[in-house]
Amino acid sequence: MKYFLLTLIFLLPFQAVANDTCSYTYTVWNTAQKRTVMKQKITKLRSELTEAEKGPFNCTICKEDQEIVTLDNDASMKLCRHVAEKIKGALNQVLKEGYDIQSLVGYRPSKSRGPVDAKGNRTQFSQHAFGVAVDVNQEFNGLYTNCQEWGPTCKLIKGGTYDPKKPLAITAKSPIIPAMEKAGLKWGGFRKDSLKDFMHFSPDGQ
Ligand SMILES: [Zn+2]
Repeated sequence: MKYFLLTLIFLLPFQAVANDTCSYTYTVWNTAQKRTVMKQKITKLRSELTEAEKGPFNCTICKEDQEIVTLDNDASMKLCRHVAEKIKGALNQVLKEGYDIQSLVGYRPSKSRGPVDAKGNRTQFSQHAFGVAVDVNQEFNGLYTNCQEWGPTCKLIKGGTYDPKKPLAITAKSPIIPAMEKAGLKWGGFRKDSLKDFMHFSPDGQ
């Protein structure tokens, strides 16, 4: 018993430190080279998190705040634990209604939005970095630039070619849109600027 208590006294401080730690590995997207150019591992105390490392719904970039979400059809991804249940419910509902979900991307820390620095690197974390954004069936719902409205000017920059007539293509009338809105996520196909992210759902649709 004595030894047990001694061990406990030794281990307790370590446990406290472990719970207080935030770690994540992030990549940086370079717009000039059109590829990921940097990978960096960060470990710090939660009390040291900057505003840039905090997202909506009390979610953070810390991998410790993410959990695995598995849908009824076994498709899975990681999401922020504060939104995971809601989004899982919405996507399971959509599956029941007959829309097949073949691929999902949730938590993925990367700087892929915001202003570009002198080297062409993006400088802000995407909503995926906080586990609050979801890409659905990216093979059928690409990200396009030069795309104020869907048409021949649009240029594919990520994911698969978008053909609104295909069954897995997400369109303005797809039931997945109101289902995800109920869970707090807007569709990237409704963006008002020249980007259209047909696979993407996030709190601000960007
Ligand atoms: Zn996305």
